[in-house]
Amino acid sequence: MNLILFGAPGSGKGTQSALLVEKNTYRHFSTGDLFRAAIKNQTELGKLAKRFMDQGQLVPDEITIGLIREVLKKLKKNESFILDGFPRNSTQAEALNELLTQLSLKLDMAVFLEVDKKLLINRLTGRRVCKNCGAVYHIETKPPQKEGICDVCGGQVIQRPDDKEDVIENRLNIYEDNTAPLKDYYRKKGLYIEVDGTGGQDQVYQRISKVLDA
Ligand code: AMP
Repeated sequence: MNLILFGAPGSGKGTQSALLVEKNTYRHFSTGDLFRAAIKNQTELGKLAKRFMDQGQLVPDEITIGLIREVLKKLKKNESFILDGFPRNSTQAEALNELLTQLSLKLDMAVFLEVDKKLLINRLTGRRVCKNCGAVYHIETKPPQKEGICDVCGGQVIQRPDDKEDVIENRLNIYEDNTAPLKDYYRKKGLYIEVDGTGGQDQVYQRISKVLDA
């Protein structure tokens, strides 16, 4: 089963992808994670992506599409994938279609995580991440045991530069204008499934599992 997991920033795509990978055999491709890894490794791609990411802008399509092309090309025959954070606009969605056709791959479902704006803002402003291993925390609902220190690896827990309040508004606007219209795009293709993304992560995971099993 090949999936797209999409939704607004803060809708829980990364968290749910991680749970799906833990309990099933998916390859998980997050464009946000791939860009953050490139930034950490100080590659040319990372330097370029950082300029856009820090302002909450989308990284240009040709770069993002090229990145996804490279990872999908390496997928083995029997592997299933989850795309998390890609596509984010109609150009990327069309490019993905073409790419999947070229690689003889098929998309089975586009799962949309529905979360209202107030909750998105609370999740994003309160989110903290480990600089080293990427573990995700929240200052109210899931703080690390020792402030600023990752429970998993002891790394430094920080706020993502694009989770600062002034950048969040921009990201949410870009989402509304570019990504939300993909709901209709996948609805027309008969691939769209909407899942309530509110509540605890296990609750949301159960909802997703239910639609996948059906
Ligand atoms: P995310 O981790 O999915 O919230 O993505 C963080 C940031 O990475 C976004 O705000 C964009 O700057 C960039 N990014 C991630 N995925 C894409 C994409 N599909 N197209 C363009 N930019 C992206």
